[in-house]
Amino acid sequence: MSAKPLPSRRREGWPKAGVGLRRGYFQAHPVFASGSATPPASGRGKVVAAAAALALTACSTVQSEPVATAAPVAAAAATVPMGQQWLYGSAEGAIAARQTFGALTSYALAKAKTRPADSVIIDEATGRPVPCGNKPLAAVFDADETLIWNVGSMRWFAMQGKDFDPATWDQWEKTGTGKALAMPGALEAMAALRAAGITPIANTNRSTANAKGSEATLAAAGLGDFKHGETLFLMGDDATGSSKDMRRATIAARWCVVAMAGDQLGDFRNAFNKPELPPLQRRTLATAAPYDGLWGNGWFLFANPVYGPSIRGGFDDIFPAETHWEPDTL
Ligand SMILES: [Mg+2]
Repeated sequence: MSAKPLPSRRREGWPKAGVGLRRGYFQAHPVFASGSATPPASGRGKVVAAAAALALTACSTVQSEPVATAAPVAAAAATVPMGQQWLYGSAEGAIAARQTFGALTSYALAKAKTRPADSVIIDEATGRPVPCGNKPLAAVFDADETLIWNVGSMRWFAMQGKDFDPATWDQWEKTGTGKALAMPGALEAMAALRAAGITPIANTNRSTANAKGSEATLAAAGLGDFKHGETLFLMGDDATGSSKDMRRATIAARWCVVAMAGDQLGDFRNAFNKPELPPLQRRTLATAAPYDGLWGNGWFLFANPVYGPSIRGGFDDIFPAETHWEPDTL
């Protein structure tokens, strides 16, 4: 089949960027990502700006008498981004979370019975797992979109048409208690782990300065006690910023970690978080030996279609050339 030029009417039929799913959503904050640049402009902001520009153009070109009252420019109605619809509202999103918690719990309980020789935390100096010795058993979780869904702040940001606002997020860490929800399957997993003598630990890029708020938020969601410095590790606990590697090393020095979970690659190794990597290269890095065998076997990833460095890439980044296809008739 010969290549055909792409008719413009077909391009116009594709979903518009900025409607529903916002690419790059929240990528600027270390809670959600690491190493990324400034957040993209809001899709809604672009729509409103375009509408305003159109109105100005119309005013400048109309030659008749000035009208007494110009038609108001309607602001674009707030919509729930597609990723939020899927993650926070759909049966599929809830089931996926339950499946991951179930798989993690089964794996951790089986490992606890035989006491593994190694943690699932990698010693970044040697590239080898940290030995367990006779350390007590633990499972390490990221917090945001791994233990809790931040539905209170996400709704607010979506309704404001904002990609991210660090000052508002800081308030959320302080005062969001009771407005974040335990993810489906989280409560059962925490109970089963604790009953088996496995201590849940949270390693999150929430701020050390807001430790009390995050402790209260996790407790209010029903997840039990996470105590700062003991079972809760936060950005600012050491001098390495948003990288969680040092905190993982601190945890692995005290605990035999039988399972680890997160919604971003940085929840497992900071080396996976190279913002300059195109999506397919990033995927290859994270799924190559010796890490390929860890996914689902010690490392457990929660789906997050809402934000983070996984949500990026153009047509050429995502779709291999050999898969390109067009219908015979348009
Ligand atoms: Mg997270």
